[in-house]
Amino acid sequence: MKELIAKPVENWKAEVMSVGDEIISGQRLDTNTQWLSRALGDLGITVRYHSSVGDDLSEHIAAIGVAMRRADLLIMSGGLGPTADDLTRQAIAQACGVELEFRDTECLQIQTIFERAGRPMPASNRLQAYFPVGSATIANPEGTAPGIDFQFRRPEAEWVRIIALPGVPAEMKQMWSATVEPRLRSLAPICSMVHHHVIHCFGAGESAIEAMLPNLIQRGRDPCVGITASGATISLRISTRGKTVEDCLEKMQPTIETIRTRLGDLIFGENGETLADVISRDLRRNQWKLGICDFGLSGKIAVALNGCGLDSMFLKILEADGGDLHRWPDLETLANQIRLNHKDLNFSTVIGPLDHDGKENSDQTPTFSIAFSAPNLTLSYQLRYAGHSALREERAVKQVLNHIRLFVQKVN
Ligand code: ATP
Repeated sequence: MKELIAKPVENWKAEVMSVGDEIISGQRLDTNTQWLSRALGDLGITVRYHSSVGDDLSEHIAAIGVAMRRADLLIMSGGLGPTADDLTRQAIAQACGVELEFRDTECLQIQTIFERAGRPMPASNRLQAYFPVGSATIANPEGTAPGIDFQFRRPEAEWVRIIALPGVPAEMKQMWSATVEPRLRSLAPICSMVHHHVIHCFGAGESAIEAMLPNLIQRGRDPCVGITASGATISLRISTRGKTVEDCLEKMQPTIETIRTRLGDLIFGENGETLADVISRDLRRNQWKLGICDFGLSGKIAVALNGCGLDSMFLKILEADGGDLHRWPDLETLANQIRLNHKDLNFSTVIGPLDHDGKENSDQTPTFSIAFSAPNLTLSYQLRYAGHSALREERAVKQVLNHIRLFVQKVN
């Protein structure tokens, strides 16, 4: 296919569009758009718009029209099936003012897919062999919906490239890697990529963290630093453009160092690590075993730590015997006693019960205590069981995991 767009690829504006009633009605999560946006970023192509449209021809044509006016590259997923509500082919043809044409070779390929499955091809699947005149096909080796690759000259404007892929994620990804990505790369020189590095923090709110990073979280800065909050974890995403991942990392290193220096212990991990992952890594590295006795969070800490593969070599879950709470004067003494009673443990942690049983109608914010014991260090903290009711428990679990992380690092 000829190179029609004169702009360097890194100046392109891309739009990713998902197609289908299933998506716009909220029945299905649009993971294709997320995946395609990342794949475009890896090619150094900036995604400027996301859009979704249902299975309605006139609305689909209008959505393509909007995309053609504002983007140089439109990648669509969905609507290439054989049924009456699969309208992507017609929508592209009508939005661009071209006819659909039947292609024998594509029809034979679709027939082959059915033969391999030992079934005759239903007549409706012939629909999938129609393409906008002037478009290239994108082979779908394991499905019946070939993709469309169409370059169209916008009235009084530059060329726009429209790529349509099936909605089935496995087919879409395979076709992207086998055909679309190499085609876009061949348009090159794609001389840059966008790389993201993510730093995760716990223990301060979004605005407090932003205030600790003056001048870093600013639009237009390169590397750009974005901040997001999810379940009390604050993540800083540092993004930049370079020839390779190594180039990008070198360019973002001073920004990463500044963040690390300013935020210190608030940072627990990077690039998807969880608090439990970090605890697990530190215990394994030191060959240490942690004992946990949980009166307050119904075993959720054990579940989180087991979930990242900590087995009985590194973790001992002790039965929470209510009698112990009365037998010992405080949680620190209980934590010490547990550690001394279990010779295989390097540390012990006791999570106390929620006061006022965590009842929402109490005047006070419920609190709970946590105590740690190691041979030379005993510590305890009182934590608030607070925040939105739907997230309170998750937040409490993270608070405890964060204290365990900090305790293990302190003893280290
Ligand atoms: P096919 O030719 O296989 O019918 P299609 O191009 O017509 O594919 P759709 O019918 O729109 O695609 O979707 C097929 C299935 O793919 C959906 O039921 C859904 O499971 C999945 N799917 C579609 N769009 C998306 C999306 N944006 N994100 C995640 N999954 C999707």
